[in-house]
Amino acid sequence: SGALLVKDALIREIQKNGLENEVRLVETGCVGPCNMGPLAIIYPEGVFYQKLVPEDAQEIVEEHLLKGRVVNRLLFQGPEDERKKFIEEIDFFQKQVKIALRNCGFINPLNIQEYIARDGYLALGKVLSSMKPEEVIEMVKKSGLRGRGGAGFPTGLKWELTKKSQDTPKYIICNADEGDPGAFMDRSILEGDPHSVLEAMAIAGYSIGANQGYVYVRAEYPLAIERLSIAIDQARELGLLGKNIMNSGFDFDVEIRIGAGAFVCGEETALIASVEGRRGMPRPKPPFPAQSGLWNKPTVINNVETWANIPSIMNNGPEWFASIGTGNSKGTKVFALAGDINNTGLVEIPMGMTLGEIVYDLGGGIRDGKKFKAVQIGGPSGGCIPKEFLNVKIDYDSLKELGAIMGSGGLIVMDEDTCMVDLARYFLEFVQDESCGKCTPCRIGTKRMLEILQRITEGQGREGDIELLEELAVQIKNTALCGLGQTAPNPVLSTLKYFREEYEMHIREKR
Ligand code: SF4
Repeated sequence: SGALLVKDALIREIQKNGLENEVRLVETGCVGPCNMGPLAIIYPEGVFYQKLVPEDAQEIVEEHLLKGRVVNRLLFQGPEDERKKFIEEIDFFQKQVKIALRNCGFINPLNIQEYIARDGYLALGKVLSSMKPEEVIEMVKKSGLRGRGGAGFPTGLKWELTKKSQDTPKYIICNADEGDPGAFMDRSILEGDPHSVLEAMAIAGYSIGANQGYVYVRAEYPLAIERLSIAIDQARELGLLGKNIMNSGFDFDVEIRIGAGAFVCGEETALIASVEGRRGMPRPKPPFPAQSGLWNKPTVINNVETWANIPSIMNNGPEWFASIGTGNSKGTKVFALAGDINNTGLVEIPMGMTLGEIVYDLGGGIRDGKKFKAVQIGGPSGGCIPKEFLNVKIDYDSLKELGAIMGSGGLIVMDEDTCMVDLARYFLEFVQDESCGKCTPCRIGTKRMLEILQRITEGQGREGDIELLEELAVQIKNTALCGLGQTAPNPVLSTLKYFREEYEMHIREKR
């Protein structure tokens, strides 16, 4: 959105005014609020300027940096017209709790010293110098952290199962194949704070006895790949990756593997096949990767956001982490807010926040004064939640009860004008397109479902179509080989559950 042009303009103005020795301009990762960008924060005061264009640079330098006067017109404007000077005053940030995103937007991701200055690699040092591998796993188990990639499997248990597997060598994988439409949580972490992932992978490597890790990242994320590569080089230079890390006698290194943009490669067995250089197709489970993963060896796979939580858990203790969130859902979750909402962007919320708080307090409500209709949560594997459930707590269990899932963190907000049948068709088109074709229920079944949805939305729906959709959906869920197929019918089933009359209306109107 022009941030680099703003940066260039600021550099020019800083130089023009002879301030280059006094003012340091730092490019960071994403701060979160897409609709407020490009933005700049002036320290030490912390004044937050938003929606900048290159022409604003002169005023920022001449007024703020030289004369110490805040440029009011560039401040965020609240709903009552009042201007907000600092991030903490803006609703979008106020209710957020940042753990996975703690450094995003605050440090220069290209400078390992800035990560270290914010306690980076402290957890790894502590683990290597004073903890047994079993103690590390126990801490992760106690924290209650569950996988943030979609399935929500307990992270500590996954590590323990892998550690207990007898075979060697063992491997660590970071799944950065984020593919849900509208989701960019993992990209943002890799671009804004790559060392948090590397540090966490090394900690896990130590705990399970693995010496090699891989980050599988999609090719569509060139900036994330670039910054991660630089981070790996810097960590190696300082002895934080590679042989004999921190003189502990423990070896651990990380390599990047670039995916070719297949949604199914986010499924762990397909991802493993792709890392091995084979076609990215899932295989039946069990055996699970904890027993037989990469090159048939025990492997821990976690997604980027899960990894990013680990250093903070080690530094602050599992009790601290477990004190945030609800019963079975501890800590925070990052969501990508998109759709018909005023404030789009990335938010990190404590588990248990209500949907209404996300939509109205953080999201600033629905655009153009329209009414809220529903959210689609969890991307193509997830489901919709209608307005009756604005008070639902966002955690693994509450969402499951409603027929939705946490998923990886896509959250698309829809206003009163949205056709829910169109929405279901959109997501089904996506999964149909991304189906790898290995198993019949997903390859053929989703195609038949899509045909029915197409004729319904095009006014050609027939009597019995809804029942047929439901029957197919249930069959596919029960018989598809992998998570992609098993969850593909979710958007159809949940829109049918809450908005059946819209399907019926489409069919009736044709007749
Ligand atoms: Fe491939 Fe779909 Fe079967 Fe998964 S469910 S193996 S994506 S055809």
